[in-house]
This record gives sequence, C-alpha cells and structure tokens, in this order.
Amino acid sequence: MMRGLMMDRPLMISHIIEYAAANFPDQEVVSRMPEGGIHRYTYPEAAARSRQLANALRKLGVEPGDRVATVAWNTYRHFEIYYATSGIGAVCHTINPRLPVDQFSYIVNHAQDKYVFVDLTFVPLLEKLQGLFEGVRGYVIMTDREHMPETSLPDAYCYEDLLAEQPSAFEWPEFDEQAASSLCYTSGTTGNPKGVMYSHRSTLLHAFSVLAIPGLGLNETCSLLPVVPMFHVNAWGVPYFAPMIGAKLVFPGPNLDGASLTELMNAEGVTEAWGVPTVWMGLLGHLRGSGERLDSLQRVLIGGSAAPRAMMAEFKSQHGVEALQGWGMTEMSPVGTVSLVRPKDQNLPEEKQLDIKVTQGRAMFGVEMKIVDGDGKRLPHDGKAFGELLVRGPAIISGYYENAEANAKSFDDEGWFRTGDVAKIDSEGYMEIVDRTKDVIKSGGEWISSIDLENEAVGHPEIAEAAVIAAYHPKWDERPLLVVVREAGSELDKAGVIEFLKTRVAKWWLPDDVVFVDELPHSATGKLQKAKLREEFKDYVLPEAKAS
Ligand code: AMP
Repeated sequence: MMRGLMMDRPLMISHIIEYAAANFPDQEVVSRMPEGGIHRYTYPEAAARSRQLANALRKLGVEPGDRVATVAWNTYRHFEIYYATSGIGAVCHTINPRLPVDQFSYIVNHAQDKYVFVDLTFVPLLEKLQGLFEGVRGYVIMTDREHMPETSLPDAYCYEDLLAEQPSAFEWPEFDEQAASSLCYTSGTTGNPKGVMYSHRSTLLHAFSVLAIPGLGLNETCSLLPVVPMFHVNAWGVPYFAPMIGAKLVFPGPNLDGASLTELMNAEGVTEAWGVPTVWMGLLGHLRGSGERLDSLQRVLIGGSAAPRAMMAEFKSQHGVEALQGWGMTEMSPVGTVSLVRPKDQNLPEEKQLDIKVTQGRAMFGVEMKIVDGDGKRLPHDGKAFGELLVRGPAIISGYYENAEANAKSFDDEGWFRTGDVAKIDSEGYMEIVDRTKDVIKSGGEWISSIDLENEAVGHPEIAEAAVIAAYHPKWDERPLLVVVREAGSELDKAGVIEFLKTRVAKWWLPDDVVFVDELPHSATGKLQKAKLREEFKDYVLPEAKAS
C-alpha cells in the first residue's frame, strides 16, 4: 500500500473549545442555573474557564485515564467539566441522578470514580449514598462561595473556589485520539448497567457526522437547546458539535417543564431543540393550556423513543415547527438515523411527508445498518422484510467497559453491534423500528410485531392502553396475548376487540386471547414495563393450550 503524505494529527476534544473561542469570540453560551437566574458568557470565556479547571484537576491529582464523575444538570459548569476532564486525558463519567440507589453505587464503584462533581440539587442525594462509594477521593460542589451549602460530604470543594485559584493559561496535552474521553452507563431491563466508553476520535467523528446529516444544515445562525440531559449520552453530542459551528448554546438547567422551556426558548431565540417525547408532551400541553406562542423555534428533534405521529403533526400545524425523529443508542454516541424528508419529497402533501417523518429515518454517514433473520442471514432492504438490526461504525461501541459477559452476547461474527431493535429498511434507506427483539412474538418461526398490534388496538375508541406479550403455545411456540385497559365505563369484550382488529392486521397476527386489566405496569419514566407484565402473566395459559 502506498501511504498518504498527510499529517497524523490526533482528533482531540480540546481542539473543539479552542476552535470555538478563536473563531466565534462573540457567540454566547447561556444557562439557567440551579441557584436561580440566567448565566451568560462567550466561547472564549468558556475556553478560559475550562483551562482553569484543567489546572485545578491536575492539582487535585487527576491523572490521565482517571474517571471523574458528574451528577449535574445541563449548565455551563457541566460544559466546562466535559472539556477540562477529557482535555487532560481523564474520563468524564456522567451519571443519571434518577438511577435506583443500588445501580448508582454499582456504577460509581465499577467505574472507580476518583472525584464526583455535583450540582446543588443532588448534594443531599450524594450525602445519602457516599458511604457506598469505595474509591471516591472527594466531591466538588458546582457552585460559588455564596451558595456553598453545609454538607456532610467528606472532602468537599467549592467549584468556583477551585477555579479562582488557577490561571487561565494551560497547554492542552496531545495524545492518542483513541484515548478514552467519556463514559456513560446504559441500563438494560435486566442485570447491572453497562459502561459505554467513548474516545476522542469517536466523539469528534460523531460530531462531524451529525453536522453532515443531509438537510440538517446546522450553522452559526442556530440557537441550540439540548433539553436531553448531559448525563444521557453527552446530550446526544450537542455540547461537542455546537461549538464546532459556532452555534449559540442554551442550557436549560433543572427547569424542564413546558412553561420554563417556552420562556427560555423565546428569550434566547432558540431555533433548534433536542429532547425526548415526554418533554415535548409537557411543552405542547403547556402551549395548549396557556395559548403562548413559540417565537423563534424552527425545529425539534424528537428521539430516545418513538415520536408519536400526533405530536409531530401538532408541532407543525399549531406552531409551524418542523418535528424530526432521531433514533440512536447510548452505544452509538448516540445518533444513528434522522427522519428528514428528502428535497424530492418536500412537495408531497403534509400527510405523506408525515409518513416519512414517523419512520426512524435514514442513517447518517458513519453508521452502517443491516437487518438479519433468526439465523443471522441478511434480509433485503425492501421496506417489507424485518429482522434484528445490527450496526457498525467508528462512533459505535466495540465492547462494554469491563463486562465480558455482555460483550459475549452483543456482537455478531462479523463484529457488528446488536441493537436489540427489530426493524425494516426500505430501498432509500429509511429505517423503521418494528419492535424490540425481546418483545417480538415468534410464532412458528415468523415474527409478529407487538408494537404494531398495540398501535392498532389503541386505535379502538374504548381502549385506553394496550400491551402485547408472547404466551406459550404448544404448536406455534409463541402467540400474541393482548392485555387491555378499557376506557372508563366501557364494556368492550374480547369478541369486540378481535372484530376491530380483523380488518387491520393479518389474520395470523390476531391475538389468541384478550385479557382486561385495570392498569399496566410503568417505569418511573412512564415506559411500559413489558418484563414486569410478562412476570405477572407467567402462569397464564392460552385457552387453546388449556383445551389441548
Ligand atoms: P438508550 O441507549 O437508553 O438511548 O436507548 C436506546 C433504545 O431506545 C434504542 O435501541 C431503541 O429501542 C429506543 N429508541 C431510541 N430512539 C428511538 C426512536 N426514535 N424510535 C423508537 N425507539 C427508539
């Protein structure tokens, strides 16, 4: 092979903040703070303070490779920690404060965090948990002297005091771009959370890829609001790619309710906001009730779970806001696909465009996708065949951090990562999630989508909520069991449900039984807990199985 003659310069996270400071010296970073009030400064100030923090971390004895945890909202201080920790070669380990206690302490100990940076809000939580942490040397409370609380946390420092002692001059080191930069644990339905360790290289390539998404067109005129938390997959990469293009960054702090978001968006001229469906449900509900308008917002990116069609339609028809759907995973840094309508289809009627936007969208450059059947054989991208979705790319996990057990199950023989999603892909590359592999019903070797069946069932005016799980069948192995919550006062029965579904799904997809319950189990974040439902119905026997 003949080698190219170009410089072998490493892709470093510290380059991003210094680039923004040098090229967008007047662009703002605005934060709503846990202490109350709005903070604003520019990229050069963010860079200077990140350098001060880098000096402070060195003084605290943080070495390359050490893990430094954060338990914090989206604010400028969290942003500085992202750059300072990774910049000196340490690892920024963001922790979701809503994790159950046992998972929280498990990940602090598994990651062997050396220091924990914590927002005021979460100091009481850490005071309760700190006895469970094995190797934490100290805590940095992310506030100033004036707001510094009395605390029982041992070795607690005040963030602003640490910075004030340090010069803003710091020479960012350069090292292997494959070095670990940040760490985020992802919780499955079973077992302990698994660590996803990003590198400088993967972080920059992910950011380049997002900025190159065809039709997304993010630039210096954008004002970007990541509502998605910085403890959830680096706020989907926003804190890295926004400075690269000199976009204004607006951090919402702890106030994620509809009224606060509306106020912040209008005050700061936010043009793009990224977040999960629950947040947008709150925002739309607030707008409906208050009659307030969104003055500047042009687009929302909805991801993390499926974007409801009605939500996307309401954004457009009531507020003139274009809603896009993004699909991804913690293991993918996280963006995989975005449902942007291609220029050739932008003259289609609104409903047809919505048909496109409710798919999970097309892959961004750097994300390869394949779907396979139960034997691992590739399926065609014809928009009809569906199977397990596998991905590969330079910003996609090659192995969980210190977790041989999970790694043994998560990759196929060609090294592709198993997403656990079941999907179809059409000839233009639009991918549509059909189910989770754990939830799909395997009937006589054929797959039935539990999500499709549920979506059809809730179309019945007397059905409030529906869940489909697999029930054992002596001949077909698994058959769908539909569990239904009726609307108040309804006397809908099994025959009525089946009659309704008959014209809507293939005959062999019809549930073998319909069971009525008062409520379905939900997680703290409102997600339907199928594992719990399966547990509740573990002794259930289908009528046909009983008869035989
Ligand atoms: P997490 O790593 O916690 O972000 O979860 C990733 C999983 O969330 C994916 O594997 C999907 O099952 C689900 N998910 C994320 N985005 C979407 C979406 N737009 N539509 C449907 N499911 C999604």
